[in-house]
Amino acid sequence: MTTPFTTQRIYTRSRGLRNTFGDFVCVHCHNFVSTQVALAGVHHRNHCPYCLSSRHLDLYTAGDRLAACKARMRPIGLTLKRQSKRYARFEQGELMIVHRCEACGEFAINRIAADDDNETIVTVYQNSLQIDGDLQRLLVEDGIILLGAADQSIVQWRLFGQN
Ligand SMILES: [Zn+2]
Ligand SMILES: [Zn+2]
Repeated sequence: MTTPFTTQRIYTRSRGLRNTFGDFVCVHCHNFVSTQVALAGVHHRNHCPYCLSSRHLDLYTAGDRLAACKARMRPIGLTLKRQSKRYARFEQGELMIVHRCEACGEFAINRIAADDDNETIVTVYQNSLQIDGDLQRLLVEDGIILLGAADQSIVQWRLFGQN
């Protein structure tokens, strides 16, 4: 039996979606944010370099812009990217920002961009040390381990290159 129509192509990613991916004005501090790779040092810049706020735009993968929520995502702490190598030590992972949506509570883990404000990152880290037990439990349920008080030297070293 032949099925003549199976070769028909379906384009799931429209150009319109891709075009929404560009410079933006931060929903929180209202600074203009450029998404040029040369400035940000990362593809898919999704948070403001000044206040580190993000918006809940992505649903499945970074940059898909499929989420209906669109609320502010607040930086709540730092974590380290998991290593794919089996015997890699936890401290060797890349420093990442953990965001939480203010409307629906969804967590997201994002790469730090080259022009993100280091002092703001440190402030986020310090504030994260006060996170209460309920939020900690939600993070653990999502498999997210925030850097704690014992990890201060890792944060310093990653941001400023010194202990
Ligand atoms: Zn901002
Ligand atoms: Zn949301």
